[in-house]
Amino acid sequence: MTASASTSHLLPVFARADVAFERGEGAWLIGTDGERYLDFTSGVAVNALGHAHPHLVAALQQQATRLWHMSNLFKSPDGERLAARLCEQSFADKVFFCNSGAEAMECAIKLTRRYHAMKGHPERYRIITFEGAFHGRTLATLAATGAEKYLEGFGPPMDGFDQVPLGDIAAVKKAVGPHTAGILIEPLQGEGGVRAPENAFFKALRQICDDNGLLLIFDEVQTGMGRTGELFAYKRIGVTPDVMSLAKALGGGFPIGACLATNEAASGMTPGSHGSTFGGNPLAVAAANAVLDVMLAPGFFEHARKMSLLLKQKLASVVDRHPDVVAEVRGEGLLIGVRAVVPAGDLINALRDEKLLTVAAGDNVVRFLPPLIVTEAELDEAVERLERACGRLSGKIRAEAAQ
Ligand SMILES: *Cc1c(COP(=O)(O)O)cnc(C)c1O
Repeated sequence: MTASASTSHLLPVFARADVAFERGEGAWLIGTDGERYLDFTSGVAVNALGHAHPHLVAALQQQATRLWHMSNLFKSPDGERLAARLCEQSFADKVFFCNSGAEAMECAIKLTRRYHAMKGHPERYRIITFEGAFHGRTLATLAATGAEKYLEGFGPPMDGFDQVPLGDIAAVKKAVGPHTAGILIEPLQGEGGVRAPENAFFKALRQICDDNGLLLIFDEVQTGMGRTGELFAYKRIGVTPDVMSLAKALGGGFPIGACLATNEAASGMTPGSHGSTFGGNPLAVAAANAVLDVMLAPGFFEHARKMSLLLKQKLASVVDRHPDVVAEVRGEGLLIGVRAVVPAGDLINALRDEKLLTVAAGDNVVRFLPPLIVTEAELDEAVERLERACGRLSGKIRAEAAQ
């Protein structure tokens, strides 16, 4: 038993690294040890505007003096404004606010089932999902995720999800039946290893949904709010869903999730059919409105896309120099994955020793998730640190081979 396991009162569901932070500034975190770390985790794609962004800090401070919480029994002008802005920027007509990605997905699943039920087809409740997906940790979203490693020990997975291989359109067509309600997919799999099928695959899914009266649901919890270089990833793909979930970066670090839908897709949701005590909380709404203020300013996404291109080029050159450590660069915008040759965990640890923080993903991938406001100088700094970490790992590999 490690020291932390024996003394900590936190449920030990996370393998936490032995480092703690007391403060953040932009792309940097300052450890309790006084060290400065370059944060390319962004709280797992949450702190899109970096740490302590002045506009977000001011918005939250102002709201904190006015009103912290108010029940959904009453009107919410700021929530109305946030919903209107999200709809104006997207395909959607209606928004439900909640507190996390899993909750946003729960709403998306319920809304999809209810759509068919209210049209007289309660038997249409099944949703087609994809291998390598991640949709959350509640019982329904776990069933949608479908990964054995997350489901083990939690009883029978909730019924209603049919998983098929990513990119296999024939398998999707075969899975569609009289019980199918919709198709659920991430525009770019984050947890699954920064993997995406061709745009043509998404177009084919849209066609299958249109031909069969199914709803197309995009889980944009990770890809949404600028992470792939557009406000929403579906815009880059050029395929419009009927339902979309958001969370992670929506509040810039304050917990808030959202389920967006067209009027038609949302038509089954009537008063009393869903709810949330904290959903649309004034502090969360203030944070999200402030995030939109910054992201919708001219040039914001151009900057993120420029940084994306630079980061991908710089990472590719590291892959060229250290093929024994890293093999491939993937991803869009600033959701970038580097597939490791060594165990991904070894590379992440070596990077943390260099004071660069990154996140693991499936398929032995290390995710680089800088804030969207990252500068070119910070990218250079990160790549130098990666270069050093790869050099050390290379040296170790050669030393072991020589033995
Ligand atoms: C993180 C994530 C979720 C779950 O979000 P939580 O806020 O952790 O519940 C769902 N879907 C995707 C694609 C995610 O990346």
